Amino acid sequence: MDLGTHLFTGVVAASFWPGLDLRQKILVVLFAILPDSFEWLHQLARKHYDNDGHLVAEDYNRLSKKIEGHWYLWPYNFFHNLFGPLIFLVCSVYYNWTLAYSLMWLSHLLWDLPSHKIKLGLKLWWPFYQKRIHGFFDWWLVKFFRGWELLGYWAILTIMSVILIRSFW
Ligand SMILES: [Zn+2]
Repeated sequence: MDLGTHLFTGVVAASFWPGLDLRQKILVVLFAILPDSFEWLHQLARKHYDNDGHLVAEDYNRLSKKIEGHWYLWPYNFFHNLFGPLIFLVCSVYYNWTLAYSLMWLSHLLWDLPSHKIKLGLKLWWPFYQKRIHGFFDWWLVKFFRGWELLGYWAILTIMSVILIRSFW
């Protein structure tokens, strides 16, 4: 899903999760976007294989086969499989960290699962099994997320985030 939706999910969780101090609330928000922290490497891999030098969202699905298995994608896959957050969840129980962190990581996957359709569907069982899970749509190809609508949407999310932060942080 888009960065704004992931960030807003983090802000909502940080606002309503009981007993978090400010530092923990910030970490909760960061965990909501953590899986996409290596999207730039994903993008670099696409640029590498995109021959016309003009990478656009329409190219993403076309290039997915070419960049498949490239080490550039390891960090992205590392954060977009089920084992990472589950192992982190177990560590959280063991070390007494708030479960909000690992659940935010899982929530990121929950958003991405339906919004990555086929060619860039999540490799939920990576690195053991390479099969992609097929979602319902590719969010980067939805018109709403590509024009002025996205800025309007993000503006609304920003206003709601400011209200939440001022009320609950
Ligand atoms: Zn993601």
